Amino acid sequence: MYMYIGIEISSWCNAKCPWCFTTKPADRVNFNPVANVMSLDTFIDVIERLETLGLLHDDVVINLYEIGEPFLNRDISRIISYLNSKSLKYAISTNASVLPSFEEGTNILSNLSYLIISMPGFSQESYDRVHGFRFDRIKKNIIGLITNFRNSGFIGDARLIYHVYQLNIDEIYKAKAFADENHIDFYPYYAILYEWKYVWEYLSDTLSYDLLKKASEELFLGNIEKTISARRPDFVCEFLNMLLIDVDCDLKTCCQIKKGDPGYSYGSIFNLSAEEIITKRTTQQICKKCQTKGMDYYLSCYTLFNLHSSTAGQSENGHTHKDLLKLIRGSAGQEIILFGAGEFGIKAVRYLNDENIGVNYFSDNSPLKIGKQISGVNVIAPWDILNQCTDPLVIITTINHRQVFNQISQLGIRSVYYFPLEVYIQQ
Ligand code: SF4
Repeated sequence: MYMYIGIEISSWCNAKCPWCFTTKPADRVNFNPVANVMSLDTFIDVIERLETLGLLHDDVVINLYEIGEPFLNRDISRIISYLNSKSLKYAISTNASVLPSFEEGTNILSNLSYLIISMPGFSQESYDRVHGFRFDRIKKNIIGLITNFRNSGFIGDARLIYHVYQLNIDEIYKAKAFADENHIDFYPYYAILYEWKYVWEYLSDTLSYDLLKKASEELFLGNIEKTISARRPDFVCEFLNMLLIDVDCDLKTCCQIKKGDPGYSYGSIFNLSAEEIITKRTTQQICKKCQTKGMDYYLSCYTLFNLHSSTAGQSENGHTHKDLLKLIRGSAGQEIILFGAGEFGIKAVRYLNDENIGVNYFSDNSPLKIGKQISGVNVIAPWDILNQCTDPLVIITTINHRQVFNQISQLGIRSVYYFPLEVYIQQ
């Protein structure tokens, strides 16, 4: 059961990010935008196919993006209406250059789980060097987008993902203030060396001098080996928990491999059975190569920039880690469950163990983690929490905290708290 299924409704993007391989009009002499978007009919065929394969379920989120800009697909409203008719949840990621307008006063966006807005800096200079858009217009678009979405039934998380480059590091606090003013969660992540083959070449010392020079001027290359050195042997690539379908209905191995490059796809969604998909998803040679170098950790777990004033991941009541310890120590008899057996969860276990607090279970949506032991803690499925525990106290240790909060609440569990992000950053 995949929790996220990415469907590339547009494979092209109007931004000019120098490190991204998405199709851009300038890449082709006879660029045809229509060939680079998925038609509504094809989208319906894909959803029906997923249904036939038994891969759709109540909690799945359809990511209407892969690497292209979804609002360049003019059928976006009809695609959303179709998903609504199937009661499916979905998510959108945009550069905010195109402003779609949904009918206000309706609930058309009530199934939108989260909205991601990517931002490459907070000045015209930064936009000139990365996205290539007019910065003032983007700010207006973001405000308009949030207003229109909220008035059209969107109640999920709005996230501003700020890509930290060397050139924009001093603009982070202005971007955060803008996000705060507009009630958008703010996540600053280091921009990565975006493309599987470049990371492979970097780690093999074969990246060309020109690329290495360019990367060393723009990115934080020191993060690559530092991040990989923290990878545990039992780490499971985050992408393997997702199904990725491109604009041509091919199943993509990885977001970081360019179409046409070795290992890009393992077949078409229309030609493989569910069993074949599940098996092939986790047995690709390129993934094995990737894992031997620990690249999967760098490519699938973006590194959060340490912004001390960040509030993301804190409890709605703004509790600190000291409050959380007090709460756990006062919860005699309750079983401690950490929801999210990823990096955040591992750090939370270490932090709690250092405080002489034991963790009873991890819980996680990933079928690749359920039934395993991570950091010496058994991982159970969310629907098993109430079977295994009489009085669980669940602490969310994942960045997607609000979505998980809703999921746990729907299970009927009342003691649910967030693990403060400050601990994650400082560990
Ligand atoms: S293991 Fe590597 S190649 Fe495979 S999906 Fe993860 S990051 Fe991509």
